[in-house]
Amino acid sequence: MALIVQKFGGTSVADADRIRNVARIITETYRRGHSLVVVLSAQGDTTDDLIAKAGEINPRGSQREMDMLLSTGEQISCALCAMAIEAMGYPVVSLTGWQAGFKTNSSYGAARIKSVRTERILAELDKRKIVIVTGFQGINKYGDITTLGRGGSDTSAVALAAVLHADLCQIYTDVDGVYTADPRCVKGARKLDEITYDEMLELATLGAQVLHNRSVEMAKRYNVDLEVLSSFTGRPGTKVKEVAKTMEKPYVSGVAKDKNIARLALVGLPDQPGTAFRIFSTLAKHRINVDIIIQSIGRGSTKDISFTIARDDMEEACRILEEVRDALGFDHIDVTDDIAKVSIVGAGMVHNPGVAALMFESLYNAGINIHMISTSEVKVSVLVDKCDADNAVQVVHDRFFEEYGTL
Ligand code: ADP
Ligand code: ASP
Ligand code: MG
Repeated sequence: MALIVQKFGGTSVADADRIRNVARIITETYRRGHSLVVVLSAQGDTTDDLIAKAGEINPRGSQREMDMLLSTGEQISCALCAMAIEAMGYPVVSLTGWQAGFKTNSSYGAARIKSVRTERILAELDKRKIVIVTGFQGINKYGDITTLGRGGSDTSAVALAAVLHADLCQIYTDVDGVYTADPRCVKGARKLDEITYDEMLELATLGAQVLHNRSVEMAKRYNVDLEVLSSFTGRPGTKVKEVAKTMEKPYVSGVAKDKNIARLALVGLPDQPGTAFRIFSTLAKHRINVDIIIQSIGRGSTKDISFTIARDDMEEACRILEEVRDALGFDHIDVTDDIAKVSIVGAGMVHNPGVAALMFESLYNAGINIHMISTSEVKVSVLVDKCDADNAVQVVHDRFFEEYGTL
């Protein structure tokens, strides 16, 4: 019999009926003779509500206390689900991140898993118990609770599947798989039966929140058999794997959108060697990730450098750069978060010239202006005004999936 890790997201455990529904899925799997480790998210909007509560008390509360607070959401859903399973007459135990052995680094709010000590889980599985583990959290070397970043329960589940050498990791959510675009926003989005780790990683990193990008990275590294499926429909989901079986790859496997970004432009920089190095090493020192970078052609002795970062880093990046304005020698920072990134992803596009042009044509036909462009072998991203983002995803999706279709 197999060892299966199942993860249920916030919507799937939002109220008592849904917890009972999840308990039914879990116990049916258990009844078939499988060993089962279950990872749960906090109920519904609990994490957002906790963040709002903290804001009412102290908007500048320390990250340590934030993690102490946010980790409680998952504890509630796990205890309630364990009680639902007890009521159905099955052996069960719920464990917090630290009881389950999750050791992380000390980056509160964005902690990375260093190791998972599985003794306790294995001992409970030996007793034939269903083991329920809080997602999204662990402890650091000081014994403090840490959280993995928003959406991090997917990564907790994949980490457990990896260390336990599970036969399968099922991510149950509120849609029945990975689609060619967010099915809640894009008309005509289609469910994919399979997607490669690499394509899924790109989609997740570029804004498709259906899987936490670090969970996909980890699944690829440890070759975890991953499936995304609905906790409501019981239909087969999407398999995420090394090689998808489609014989001829479609040009594009999905379209993603990210509205949580900001663009900074450093205007009037000296046009000399070392300028880019100084800017980006300053940001890197403060752990600020930079995405698309564009440098203008020099005008006389000056040039401009524009780049995008996560919206959450915008204020800090401006503050840090203003502090070193004289050393960097720029005139001023132009900053906006009124933008969004729209991307197409597909392993097939590298062998198909003209894919980017098709994307740009569809945006042009819709009268949407592009501010920045970035390409790689498996993706093309454009920056557009935030108000154009939804329409941009729709027209780009129509262009690739209505006329060409997936194979
Ligand atoms: P959970 O709470 O189960 O972790 P999330 O809200 O994090 O669920 O992720 C599921 C949501 O991801 C869906 O409701 C859907 O709106 C969104 N989503 C974005 N892009 C995609 C995509 N390409 N395929 C499927 N869902 C997507
Ligand atoms: N509860 C956390 C969040 O809302 C973690 C998760 O759901 O994956 O981000
Ligand atoms: Mg999620």
